[in-house]
Amino acid sequence: MQQYAEHGDQYIDGAWRLSGDAGSITVLNPATGRAVATVPAGGAADVDAAVAAARRAARAWAATTPEERLVPLTRLRDGLAAAQEEITATVVAELGAPVGFAAAVHAGLPLTVANSYLTLLAEHPFEERIGNSVVLAEPAGVVAAITPWNYPLHQITAKALPALAAGCPVVLKPAEDTPLTARLFARLVHEAGFPAGVFNLVTGTGAVAGAALAAHPGVDVVSFTGSTAVGRQIAETAGRGLKRVCLELGGKSANVVLPGADLVRAVNVNIANVFANSGQTCSAWTRLLVHEDQYEEAVALAAKAAAKYRPGDPTDPQTRIGPLVNAEQLARVRGYLDDALAAGARLVVGGPEPVAELPAGHYVRPTVLADVAPDAAVAREEVFGPVLVVLPYRDEDHAAELANGTDYGLAGGVWAADTETAAAFARRLDTGQVDLNGGRFNPLAPFGGYKSSGLGRELGRHGLEEFLQYKSLQY
Ligand code: NAD
Repeated sequence: MQQYAEHGDQYIDGAWRLSGDAGSITVLNPATGRAVATVPAGGAADVDAAVAAARRAARAWAATTPEERLVPLTRLRDGLAAAQEEITATVVAELGAPVGFAAAVHAGLPLTVANSYLTLLAEHPFEERIGNSVVLAEPAGVVAAITPWNYPLHQITAKALPALAAGCPVVLKPAEDTPLTARLFARLVHEAGFPAGVFNLVTGTGAVAGAALAAHPGVDVVSFTGSTAVGRQIAETAGRGLKRVCLELGGKSANVVLPGADLVRAVNVNIANVFANSGQTCSAWTRLLVHEDQYEEAVALAAKAAAKYRPGDPTDPQTRIGPLVNAEQLARVRGYLDDALAAGARLVVGGPEPVAELPAGHYVRPTVLADVAPDAAVAREEVFGPVLVVLPYRDEDHAAELANGTDYGLAGGVWAADTETAAAFARRLDTGQVDLNGGRFNPLAPFGGYKSSGLGRELGRHGLEEFLQYKSLQY
C-alpha cells in the first residue's frame, strides 16, 4: 500500500476498463503528505458508459427474486469479511484513520451493515396484500451513489447494499480523497459475481464526474452523502429531472446533560464521540450542553478527558487521533478556532497552533472551547474537526432551544437520571436520532436528518425503502 500505484481504469459493465477521460487524481496520505496512488479523473465519457451499462442491466436485475439476489450479496458479505485487514490498511493510508478505529469501525461497520441487509432481504415483504390489492415493491431504477471521504466504505455500503438488495443497478462516484476504498469495494463486488453492469465505479471530481452523474437522464435515484451546499445543488438538479433523491448532509449535534445525570460519563463519552475519526463525523456531538450550575465542573472534566488525546501516527495501534483528511480541511478547522478565540472564547485545551512534532501531516490539536456565544459560527456551523464547544443552559426549555438552534438536525445525546426522563426530553429535539444515556448504535434503525441535515433515511428497512417503488394490483 505504501508504494505508489497508478490506475488508469474504471469498473464499468463488469470489467476494469481504461478511462475514456483524460486526467488523474493523486491520492495523498494525510499523515505523511506522500502520494499513495493515482486514479482516473472520470468525466462525461466514463459516466455515460457506466450509466448505459447500468441501464442495460436494469431490467434483468429487477426481474430477479430476493432469493436470487441473496446469492451474490452473501458472497459480497463474505468478501468484506475476508478483506477486513486490507480495508483497514487502505482507510489508514488514504484517510489517516488510526488503525484500531479503522479496523473496528471503517472495516467492521460495513460488515455489520452487510449482515443486516442479508437478514432484511430474506424477510422484507416485497409482495403484500392490502384489502383487495396486492402491492408489489419494485426497484426504483438506476441509482447514482455519490459519497464523501469521512467514512469511505460505510457510506458506500449504506447506499450500494440496499440498492442492490432492492434490485437496482448502481453507479458509484466516491470522494476524490478516498477512491482506493471504493476500488477495493468494486473488486469485491466483481469477485462476488454480480451480473455485468449491476455495479459500476467512476472515480473523478465532484464538479465534473459527480455533477455529470447527478444530472444524467439515465439515472432514476440520486443517493448523496456530503455537504449541505452540494446536497442543495443535487436536489435542484434532481428536481428538474424528477429524480428521487436521498440526502445525508451535515450536522451540528448537541449532547444535553440534564441535572441528575452521570456527568462524568456523559462528558467522557462526549469527548470520545467528538474526537473519533479526528472529529470528521457528520453525527458528532460537537456541542455539550450542561446546566449552568455544573458548567465549570463539566469544562474541567472535558479538559481532563481531552488531554488523553494526542495526535499521532495512524499506523501505531496506540494512536487515538490521526490527521485531518487534507490541507483544506486543516485550514478550515484552524480558521474556526482563530475566529472563536478572536471573539473571546476560552481555550480549555488544544487550539489552532500546528502540532510541531508532526510537521508532515494535516494534524490539528483536539480542542475544547468554553464561553462561546451560542450564535458564534463555531457553535452553529459544522467545523468537521475535533472541536467541542461547551455551552451552559438555564433550564430545560433553554436547553431545548439551544439544541434546536441550528439549521441542522442529524443526531444528538440526552443524559438524565433515568432513560424515561431522557426519552421525554429527546421528543423535544428536532433531530433524526438521539442516544439516551449513551445508548448504542443500531444498524437496523433509520439514520438521517431533520431540517438541513437531509432528506430520506439510510440503514435498515427504511434505507431499503429509499430504493423501492410500489405498484398495486387491484383484484
Ligand atoms: P462534498 O459535498 O464536498 O462531497 C461529497 C461528494 O460529492 C464527493 O464525492 C464529491 O466529489 C461530490 N461532489 C462535490 N461537488 C459535487 C457536485 N457539484 N455535484 C455532484 N457531486 C459533487 O462533501 P465532503 O467534503 O466530501 O464531505 C464532508 C461533508 O459530508 C460534511 O458536511 C459532512 O457532515 C457530510 N456528511 C454527512 C453524512 C450524513 O450521513 N449525514 C455522512 C458523512 C458526511
